[in-house]
Amino acid sequence: MRDSHIDWDRFAGELNGIRTITSGGQLRGRSRDFSWYSPILNEQLKDCVADLIVFPRSEDDVKRIAALVSRWRVPLTIRGGGTGNYGQCVPLQGGVVMDMTDLKQVVEIGQGSVRVEAGARIGELQSAVRASGQDLLMFPSTLRVATIGGFIAGGYAGVGSIRHGILKDRDNVRGIRVVTVEDVPRVIELQGADIQKVHHAFGTNGIITQLELTLKPAQDWLHTITLFESYGDALRFCTAVSTPELDLYLLTSVERGFAPFYAHLGERFPHDRHAVFAMVSPQSIDAWRELAARHGGVESQCMNAHALEEHGLPPAYECAYNHTTLQALKTDRQWTYLQIAHPQPFDIELSERLAQEFGDEIYWHHEFARQFGEYRVFGIPLVRYTTAERQYEIMRIFESHGCATFDPHVVTIEDGGMKEIDHAQIDFKRLADPHGLLNPGKMRGWEELAAGTLAD
Ligand SMILES: Cc1cc2nc3c(=O)[nH]c(=O)nc-3n(C[C@H](O)[C@H](O)[C@H](O)COP(=O)(O)OP(=O)(O)OC[C@H]3O[C@@H](n4cnc5c(N)ncnc54)[C@H](O)[C@@H]3O)c2cc1C
Repeated sequence: MRDSHIDWDRFAGELNGIRTITSGGQLRGRSRDFSWYSPILNEQLKDCVADLIVFPRSEDDVKRIAALVSRWRVPLTIRGGGTGNYGQCVPLQGGVVMDMTDLKQVVEIGQGSVRVEAGARIGELQSAVRASGQDLLMFPSTLRVATIGGFIAGGYAGVGSIRHGILKDRDNVRGIRVVTVEDVPRVIELQGADIQKVHHAFGTNGIITQLELTLKPAQDWLHTITLFESYGDALRFCTAVSTPELDLYLLTSVERGFAPFYAHLGERFPHDRHAVFAMVSPQSIDAWRELAARHGGVESQCMNAHALEEHGLPPAYECAYNHTTLQALKTDRQWTYLQIAHPQPFDIELSERLAQEFGDEIYWHHEFARQFGEYRVFGIPLVRYTTAERQYEIMRIFESHGCATFDPHVVTIEDGGMKEIDHAQIDFKRLADPHGLLNPGKMRGWEELAAGTLAD
């Protein structure tokens, strides 16, 4: 989908001193993300390819690129590690893809906070803060590849959310520094509640160059697997341990259907048992075990990260969040997934009835987390894909039971998320991207504004 009206070689020439790619397989490679999880998006996005990839190394480079994009009025899609699931960094209208991974300095680690450039890989950032005796509050299981800017711009929650809530929770992200896309780009620093203007906006309303994040003292988490004969018992146990009296960093339950995708775990996750994967603090492990025994749970693993490495075993979070889907897809491409938030209080009987109703069409996976201080249960069910119609029929069934669905088969922020237009994000886009060049097609509210159909 190259834009033949633009002389891309001349465009690249104006970026003298900044690495660019204007031809070859990397154009396609860096136009992809993990939207192939969805057969619907995979088909829809397969022809979307950037015309040029650019690799800034500093905020000044970012400003030069933003100025040129503004003067030439070409689309600009920002790319971190490219692990997003909704085509967030796929350039729908071609143009420039800006790969942020060379902007990766950890600027300053203080007591309780870190300032870091947006393109830093989360795993490297976590190692750096660990060396100071601290930990990030949360991360996705893709931490080796995903960037911290991509997580804040594209992510929602992750490993750590049972302890610290979601990214949107107050003070988890303290500050965001943004470069605007104008002929003369400006730098805007957002703090406190203002960061929500840019958080989870899919890179549509500003280029994040730096972030300030809260840190907590490091903890030597125990990666546990606890097995149950019935999935209902696994859910009852998870509900019982969702209490501030236990210090947990991860709490995930998966049905036994997932076991074949985790064959490397052997008897730690056998085919005839449902499993709870968790990260438990050493101080809480006795209380954890007592509650597990009371719910009929049998521990099949309990090791810290160092011991896991020695045994060649994966961390517990590789059987959590969207890593489960990845593991299933590695074995069998017929799977896809859905995302739901269960109504509160969590109704385990309803979950058991749904499991019965769908049988082998769905394997259940639940994440227990906190959001705005409250415990919440999210479902990331693995769904055997047949047709798009069936995906939407299943979503309607979940909704009829009071669940909120987050559609993973769409590219816009609003349709995948809360189904609401965020006027604060649109207002910020007016400031930071007045020509509408950033990641066009991903913010439905902006498109409706341009078409004159946006309701207040
Ligand atoms: C196996 C697997 C597990 C996952 N687990 C989780 C999870 O637990 N929680 C979760 O929330 N997500 C999860 N995800 C989704 C994804 O990994 C995360 O959102 C991840 O943090 C994205 O980071 P990235 O650097 O790869 O971003 P990308 O995919 O490169 O980008 C994501 C979005 O952010 C924008 N963006 C990137 N950098 C910037 C920047 N500097 N300024 C402005 N916008 C920017 C992009 O334009 C894009 O819209 C998972 C995905 C996979 C494949």
